Amino acid sequence: MADHGLRIVIAGAGIAGLAAALRLQRDGHRVLVVERAAERRTGGYLVNLLGPGFDAADALGLAPALRERDQGIFTSRLVRADGSTKLTMPAALAQESIGSHALTVFRGDLEAVLFEALGDTAEPRFGTTITAVSDGAAGAGPLHIALSDGTEHDADLLIGADGLHSGVRELAFGPADDCLRSLGHAVIAFPMDGAPDGLPEQTASTFIDVGRTAAVFRPRDGAPSAFFTYRTSEAPRDPVEALNAHFGDLSGPVHEAARRSADTDDAYVDSVSQVVMDTWSRGGVVLLGDAAWCVSLFAGHGAGLALAGADRLARALADHPGDLGTALRTWESGLRSDVRTRQREARIGMARFAPPTRAHQRMQDLMIRALAAPILGPALLRVMNRTR
Ligand SMILES: Cc1cc2nc3c(=O)[nH]c(=O)nc-3n(C[C@H](O)[C@H](O)[C@H](O)COP(=O)(O)OP(=O)(O)OC[C@H]3O[C@@H](n4cnc5c(N)ncnc54)[C@H](O)[C@@H]3O)c2cc1C
Repeated sequence: MADHGLRIVIAGAGIAGLAAALRLQRDGHRVLVVERAAERRTGGYLVNLLGPGFDAADALGLAPALRERDQGIFTSRLVRADGSTKLTMPAALAQESIGSHALTVFRGDLEAVLFEALGDTAEPRFGTTITAVSDGAAGAGPLHIALSDGTEHDADLLIGADGLHSGVRELAFGPADDCLRSLGHAVIAFPMDGAPDGLPEQTASTFIDVGRTAAVFRPRDGAPSAFFTYRTSEAPRDPVEALNAHFGDLSGPVHEAARRSADTDDAYVDSVSQVVMDTWSRGGVVLLGDAAWCVSLFAGHGAGLALAGADRLARALADHPGDLGTALRTWESGLRSDVRTRQREARIGMARFAPPTRAHQRMQDLMIRALAAPILGPALLRVMNRTR
């Protein structure tokens, strides 16, 4: 171990990697971040930080800057396939129940706030990945890490914060098939270039049907954002083709979003999966965020867990100086139950995003109607939020 803090390499400049870099630098560790993308990501989809997710952002000192980029709560319109409105849930109704511990920000804005907090002290090496890692002297010495830019580095700790399809996980723990659990859905999300016709500011239009959901959000500031998920056993390849096949029958703003997906090269397109692993660390290599425990978008807490995981990892290292093994074990055992809970919630909650049968869909409609009701709605929302 180095005299003044640890030498740490982080793969991935997403939410988990940047949050870890921020916390670990503050604690005096020497951090190098490598990021596969050629440049900083912007925009992306909307992310809610509710309850523990908000608290994690606050613990990292990010809440004031995030508040400036908060998109607030949306008025929610549930629409039929022909685009007509089934019912409307006013923003004020949800706002009252959620309270002040909530933020809605673009993923790109959350990352931008993390970048700003980091300053120029840990500028990631973009366009770079980890190509090999070996532990010196059979685990007793430092890690030896080779990067795709041809440089080599000794490090005390390698953090794989490189997302669902983690390269570090593949290098240090084995093939993705061993830990990826498909939830049998695809997701396509993208920022739109201009608002769709007929969708007012600060309003979301959502279509929910058997096996599929589509939503378009039009915020006050920034680009509207489109989100689609549908049941499938196949990974989506071409988003335009997939959206046409699964949502081509719709009308209204949601239809317009599906049609305009061809205009963007910034779409998030993937199968929905969780990551389930027996352990998140091996020697001096640890996985963090989606790379370790992806709970999936159906949980709605992945970003919050990435922030909390990074904050708690730094705390565990500070509490156990000179004893990396104990620090990593303590950190993992403290997080396991939150992750298990969120993964279970996602498996159950996925029926909300793409109801498996017409009966599920009718139940869902009834629930939404109850939530939109003037007196019953806020009371129900308060009960639901207490469990978050
Ligand atoms: C549509 C959608 C909606 C969501 N909504 C919410 C929500 O409302 N609330 C919430 O809390 N969560 C939400 N999530 C989940 C949340 O976005 C993720 O859990 C979170 O982004 C995970 O952060 P991460 O840093 O672990 O991984 P990622 O965000 O995937 O970041 C990984 C980073 O590593 C880089 N990378 C990849 N491979 C390599 C490599 N080999 N070498 C170097 N770098 C690499 C990537 O380019 C990226 O920058 C949502 C997800 C989706 C898809």
